[in-house]
Amino acid sequence: MANRPHGIVDRNVGDRSIGQQRKMEKDKGKSMMKLHYSMAHEPLLELSTRDALIANMKKAGIEKIWIAAFYSGDMVDLEELKQAKAYAEQNGLEVGALTIPIGHPGNSLNPEDPDSKLQIPKHWHYRINKKGETAYYCGAIDACLIEDNGKAAMLLRDAGFTEVFLDDDLRVGNLNGNIEGCYCDACVAEFNAIYRRQETRETLSVQMADRRDPALMKDWVAFQCDKVTAVMKATDIEGVQPGIMVMHFGDERHGIDIPAIREQIPNTLFRVGEHQFNDRKFANPYAKGEEMLGIAYHLNFIDKPFAYSETTVFPPRSLKEHHLVYKAKLAIAAGLENILFMSGTWAMDDSYWEAIAAALPVLRAFDKDCADGERTYPVHLAYGTHGAYAEPIIPTSLPVLAGLPVKPLRADQCDDDGELLLFFGDYELTREWQAKLPHYKQVMFDQKAALKNKAAIEALKATASNLVCWDHEATSRPDAAEVSLLQAWIAQEAREFPHIVEGDHIGLVWLKNSGKVILYNLLETENQGAVEMSGRKHPVRLKPLSFAVLSRAGSLAEYDTEIELYK
Ligand SMILES: [Zn+2]
Repeated sequence: MANRPHGIVDRNVGDRSIGQQRKMEKDKGKSMMKLHYSMAHEPLLELSTRDALIANMKKAGIEKIWIAAFYSGDMVDLEELKQAKAYAEQNGLEVGALTIPIGHPGNSLNPEDPDSKLQIPKHWHYRINKKGETAYYCGAIDACLIEDNGKAAMLLRDAGFTEVFLDDDLRVGNLNGNIEGCYCDACVAEFNAIYRRQETRETLSVQMADRRDPALMKDWVAFQCDKVTAVMKATDIEGVQPGIMVMHFGDERHGIDIPAIREQIPNTLFRVGEHQFNDRKFANPYAKGEEMLGIAYHLNFIDKPFAYSETTVFPPRSLKEHHLVYKAKLAIAAGLENILFMSGTWAMDDSYWEAIAAALPVLRAFDKDCADGERTYPVHLAYGTHGAYAEPIIPTSLPVLAGLPVKPLRADQCDDDGELLLFFGDYELTREWQAKLPHYKQVMFDQKAALKNKAAIEALKATASNLVCWDHEATSRPDAAEVSLLQAWIAQEAREFPHIVEGDHIGLVWLKNSGKVILYNLLETENQGAVEMSGRKHPVRLKPLSFAVLSRAGSLAEYDTEIELYK
């Protein structure tokens, strides 16, 4: 464990050395899982309770903590930070720093704490939306904000921190499909000067809603992305490895251009944004499916040693303990090696630590069983062309619920493993997508996509024999009947990939090189079905919310942890 490569790496060898070393360990079938927790510094200075907190974390397997050190322009007292860091290190934990770089639209720290610091400094400016309204608690990215974040990185380096995760939440838009950014007079004027345009907030607002001028949308989005990347670069100082939390399905429309950040700062750490931080949302099977799609999508852009989960309870106590454990298992199933728990500035109650501690042997065994298998996704879910096109942000989770080895893929992402392309929903069959279609054995359009792209599909069908239209519109909240419809359609042809052929709401991840599949029950009740793998049909039965690994030979190892559904 002590030799696990982490933290600062030599920039000349960068991710290749980390990747190779970890791959060698992974090939030996070792558990690669590392547990982290993000927290405020105060609990580490609280003499009467801190020993118990550390004991709780260590029993739960936490190896590294990330201390919040900068709240929207306000530095935490550096002496206190140093003391908190020293205390954690004396107790055997690694310590990184985390910042709230620009604030968050809404209280993302702790709604139960009336003293939460949410205001931005007077010399920053609030983000203004398309309607001219102020996005409170949230700074627009300007020279002052960039400079303050750069200073924070220097202060933290001088205080002994070697990593700074710009965490909650470096972006210029909220969780929706729209193109956002700051539409204040100064930002619009800056945009016009750089891109030689004559736009106003009003003209931009109309254009972003109409989506008829891709060149303008791309310019505006590039302008936003350069701002977010500039904050990252200000943090990328000698001695500091920067990181960024990427919102659930966050992309260029929110100012986040992952490939550009990686190109300019190859060692960047990323949190692959998840969502559904409370039971009300996460209890739905489709929400679990969306979480899985979101992780797999962001992993298209990021090498796993640099990827961290967002395993979050928010607001306090709103997500039951067993759901937090389920989220950790989802992250492991997706192939994430760094599981980063988070709960705002509220320190999790004992019950959460106890639940993670109780689950820890199972999490480790599950991770070990999957460690030698590359996640392989022969089924692709077409997920738009570029963030600037502002297409629907959350794709349907139907193929996850139907037990297909599926991930979302964008037109600009290369992947040679694709066998079946599902083109579902309100996405455009752009030229970029049309060029990719011949690489698939089959391309299936649902009713919505077929209608939207009718002319293009008809023209292509003259020469392409792999296009089929499904007489059904995939929904955002699929039920068992809809899952069966898709499975019946999939069953019309022989498939080379493993998939669920009987039963619904069993997710499947294929570990192709080790010949295994991961199965996960999306229901809070016992579930059964059958997997077809290498021409054989394997009946399976899973406990409520359980995960399992099915081997090539057909043996099933279940990774079940205790759940208390009605606590
Ligand atoms: Zn502005």
